[in-house]
Amino acid sequence: SCIAENCAKTFGAAPVFEKVSLRVDPGEIVCLMGPSGAGKTTLLRCLCGLELPEKGTISLSGTVLCQDGRWQSPVQYRQKIGLVFQNWNLFPHWTVLQNLIKAPVHQKRMSAAEAEKKARRLLEQLNLAEKADAYPNALSGGQKQRAAIARACMLAPEILCFDEPTSALDEQSALEVTRIIQSLANQDGLGILVVTHDEQFARRTGTRLVRLSELQSNS
Ligand code: ATP
Repeated sequence: SCIAENCAKTFGAAPVFEKVSLRVDPGEIVCLMGPSGAGKTTLLRCLCGLELPEKGTISLSGTVLCQDGRWQSPVQYRQKIGLVFQNWNLFPHWTVLQNLIKAPVHQKRMSAAEAEKKARRLLEQLNLAEKADAYPNALSGGQKQRAAIARACMLAPEILCFDEPTSALDEQSALEVTRIIQSLANQDGLGILVVTHDEQFARRTGTRLVRLSELQSNS
């Protein structure tokens, strides 16, 4: 489980949030909602180890990311969590297959052969096998989204986070994302955290809907 306890994040003088706690368990799909500017993306970035909250503790199955403004085990922690960015962040000069295999091979987490085998299996699962050698700009929005999901799954994360996964997608592709996320949670047992404005998507996809304001303790 990924657990954030009493986290606070401030940019400059303004606190984005204070005393926020959130837990994501394996197999759960948590949809995080709330008004624009409330700090949802900031919390997601803290949970993924991209921002350091100045207060609180974040851990994932016992590995502590940070505690009271100090990094603890960020490298080990980040290996257990994946993030699918809102704009997918695929490298445009690499094919889909290369986008999947470069990082794990470079980090010496897998041999090139292992990585390619795993990548092709994931692309098959996500119905993207025929696009393995295509460049990202030749893909539709839904295909880019699936390529980004496949890339995030390469390192077998325990938790997968999504920032506004449907904002650039038509209804058909958004339905596909629901199916993929539910399969990752149900078949693969991943814990899923989704930041979204899309109420309809959240209601049909999530096992739990939370608002950022409900995660703050007043004590
Ligand atoms: P939206 O739903 O519009 O995406 P959000 O709830 O995800 O909003 P955040 O993107 O987390 O909100 O932003 C929360 C607040 O923190 C905003 O006021 C934003 O301007 C501020 N903020 C975010 N990142 C930074 C940064 N790197 N430097 C300074 N301020 C920031």
